[in-house]
Amino acid sequence: MTRRPSDARTVLVCGGGIVGLSIAYYLGRAGFSVTVVERNSESAGSCAYGSAGYVSPSHVVPVAAPGMVWQGLKWMLSSRSPFYLKPRLDLDLLRWSWLFARSCTVAHMRRAALVLRDLCLASRQLFVELAEKTGNAFELRTEGLLNLCKTEEGLAHEAGLLGRIANELGIEARVLNAKETAEMESGARLDVVGSIYFPIDAHLTPAKLVATLIALLKEQGVNFHWNTSVVGWKAASGRVTSVSTTAGELVADEYVLATGSWAGETMRGLGIDLPMQPGKGYSLTIERPRFQFTKPMILTEYRVAVTPLGERLRFGGTMELSGHSRAVLPERVEQIKLAAQSYFPDFSPEDFARIEPWFGYRPMSPDGMPYLGRIAGFSNLTAASGHAMLGVTLAPITGLLVAEILSGQRPSIDLSLLNPNRFA
Ligand SMILES: Cc1cc2nc3c(=O)[nH]c(=O)nc-3n(C[C@H](O)[C@H](O)[C@H](O)COP(=O)(O)OP(=O)(O)OC[C@H]3O[C@@H](n4cnc5c(N)ncnc54)[C@H](O)[C@@H]3O)c2cc1C
Repeated sequence: MTRRPSDARTVLVCGGGIVGLSIAYYLGRAGFSVTVVERNSESAGSCAYGSAGYVSPSHVVPVAAPGMVWQGLKWMLSSRSPFYLKPRLDLDLLRWSWLFARSCTVAHMRRAALVLRDLCLASRQLFVELAEKTGNAFELRTEGLLNLCKTEEGLAHEAGLLGRIANELGIEARVLNAKETAEMESGARLDVVGSIYFPIDAHLTPAKLVATLIALLKEQGVNFHWNTSVVGWKAASGRVTSVSTTAGELVADEYVLATGSWAGETMRGLGIDLPMQPGKGYSLTIERPRFQFTKPMILTEYRVAVTPLGERLRFGGTMELSGHSRAVLPERVEQIKLAAQSYFPDFSPEDFARIEPWFGYRPMSPDGMPYLGRIAGFSNLTAASGHAMLGVTLAPITGLLVAEILSGQRPSIDLSLLNPNRFA
């Protein structure tokens, strides 16, 4: 265990998901004395746990992109679509939807893509370093990502939007025909017209990443309060003075908010406005698949992610805006299975028999960009939430940037677009 000087500055990280753990790691490395407060147990697994495990610089286009409002409305009319919004009278959801619609502009997409590129590339490099340090305990593989397309229309759209923007930003995107795609991935027969290949992308085994980080944090001497909820805040003279938790009052020099899709509600006690909606997604993991792939793939028209995780194979997808509901919608899960059978004709319903769907809540800000930086009005409170589909990808760079902010350094990446006060 690393010994810290007794005068080390103390930091309380609220939330022990992948973002909170990464923040704790980089703060520990920077010499801070860190405590993590997490509502769940150590083994419960947060949103990253059942994720697709992509480290994906290819995802430079934010969720809030031109055409997404119209696309979302069309999807809402179909029970087979990858998107579902539970109709309800909820003022937070209404306001979030309005802010989302306002963000779906070409100008926002272009500005956001530049920042996302820089964040993703820096984070990928940090993952490579972490893999070297840990003997690749979390199975990082740098073999790229294939966006498979079943239709000419889908391929043209992917090449024209995502592929073009990625190439313009220096993220190589190669358009492949069906034969070239099959040569890239021969794990099972593919029924596709082609794909876009992103060589820079990588993937990892999320549960092993979480376990690796927790082990590193224990070595660093980080304190954990598992099964402990943050329930309130005390503040005076523009500073947070303590956090009330179910295990009592906790005091630190600095406080970091990393409660993912709950960040908005965690902050309410302080009167801070952080619009956030949980974007529920499901995954299905086949323990011993009859066919195994070498590369992760996105089944573009269905928005389903496929990831080989060692011997296991994971399919994940859907975006459900239904609050923190724990209900599993069978028709949404069914779409993931249908997508698999549609792109991979060798798969059958039997491959998915007896598999329990996992679900997690992506933290969705209305403009698809994380909240990262100091919160106005409090000199010792920093937000690091809202990473949407990129929380695994961006966890290390988020940790590094929070460590830079708390150390008083100028952040190594321009964070103006991530300002947590931008909707206040
Ligand atoms: C199906 C699916 C596939 C995905 N695939 C990918 C992928 O391939 N690549 C990628 O980059 N991202 C992916 N994501 C997104 C990624 O998983 C999330 O962005 C990321 O896990 C969010 O991490 P987080 O730490 O911010 O939030 P969380 O994991 O939600 O962690 C927040 C933590 O805060 C705790 N908490 C909340 N409130 C309190 C409180 N009051 N007191 C104490 N603790 C509290 C919660 O219990 C939770 O553990 C996927 C998501 C899903 C659902």
